[in-house]
Amino acid sequence: MKYREFGKTGIQVSALGFGAMRLPVVAVDPQDPKSEKVVDEKEAVAIIRRAIRKGVNYVDTAYGYHGGHSERIVGLALQDGWREKTYLATKFPCWQWKKSGDFGRILNTQLKRLQTDHVDFYMFHAVGAQSWNDVILKQGLLEKMLKARKAGKIRHIGFSFHDSLEVFKSIVDYTDIWDFCQIQINYLDTEHQAGLAGLRYAHAKGLAVIAMEPLKGGTLANLPQEAAKVFEGTARSPVEWGLDFLWNMPEVSMLLSGMGTRQMVDDNVQYAGRSKPGMLAPADTAIIAQARQAMQGVDSIPCTACEYCLPCPFGVAIPYNFRAFNNLSKGRTKAECKTQYDTWVTMFGKRADACVGCRACEPRCPQLIVISERMKEVAATFKRIRAKKIEA
Ligand code: SF4
Ligand code: SF4
Repeated sequence: MKYREFGKTGIQVSALGFGAMRLPVVAVDPQDPKSEKVVDEKEAVAIIRRAIRKGVNYVDTAYGYHGGHSERIVGLALQDGWREKTYLATKFPCWQWKKSGDFGRILNTQLKRLQTDHVDFYMFHAVGAQSWNDVILKQGLLEKMLKARKAGKIRHIGFSFHDSLEVFKSIVDYTDIWDFCQIQINYLDTEHQAGLAGLRYAHAKGLAVIAMEPLKGGTLANLPQEAAKVFEGTARSPVEWGLDFLWNMPEVSMLLSGMGTRQMVDDNVQYAGRSKPGMLAPADTAIIAQARQAMQGVDSIPCTACEYCLPCPFGVAIPYNFRAFNNLSKGRTKAECKTQYDTWVTMFGKRADACVGCRACEPRCPQLIVISERMKEVAATFKRIRAKKIEA
């Protein structure tokens, strides 16, 4: 494993952090793959410990991941001496603040779930202009953070971010409370949200910067044909190109990857072990630029499969519908995508045509997708495909 300076904290973190938002899941009823999915706890604990054993020293979770079970399972994984080997990060869900006392109540719940007396890195989760102004500033949550730090419940303060570069800069500049921030960045999202400019801005101000969504929710691992062709015959796999793009930059303090299998851990640790700033030659960055060009406009719905929008009160499997739709522009045949829409999507919930447009999901989407509108588009597209009687 390689380690990097984490801003001005004096801490060295592994180049690869473990994101506990995509832990392995199993169907409650093994005979019925459509039955409810729950985290495979034993396997999740084994995967987290495997990563730590291989040198990962940072585990990231959040109040809402896996319906609250991620924190509990991370807490389990860090028993028996593993906590002492790990920097633990979790996040305060700003959207859950309803009344005075909620900050302390939620933090105490998190400490209990995590079976620890302190969190090393505590973030405001998925901050944007609205949560920054209406919740964090208006309700005095910066002061609450400072109090929690004074009480020894948290060590370092940061925020994860989903909004424009302008908003990002204003939050970075507002206060010197920040030790770190977490932004969405990958070779497709260089000018999206905080982007490369935000990365450099925060780094110049002394903040550690964590790169999240390094593979854009799996999009950069399963490339459309044109982009995959660019990487054919090169020394790296599409995943390696995606990760190395980030590790190449000295401003990236750590890359966070949601790992759900032992193989993913093994592969990512191997890649992290040979990572270093400046690792890409000019010819390599030119290859990435070509792949980016080939990807332009490919994902017509910019869903990263983070699942923050779930559960939909009407059971719509939101990200799975978007995945089936996006595959239409990734070189897959209409028949393949129709099969995916009709069968694979329904293993996780309902198809887009079950959306009633209530918009309950929309404030939770960090990509600001107007889900109710895009669901209409998905449903109409597959209805047209079906009407043309394209057989699977
Ligand atoms: S808008 Fe559609 S997808 Fe979103 S919560 Fe309502 S029914 Fe579900
Ligand atoms: S629609 Fe938005 S919130 Fe839902 S999975 Fe996609 S990116 Fe995440």
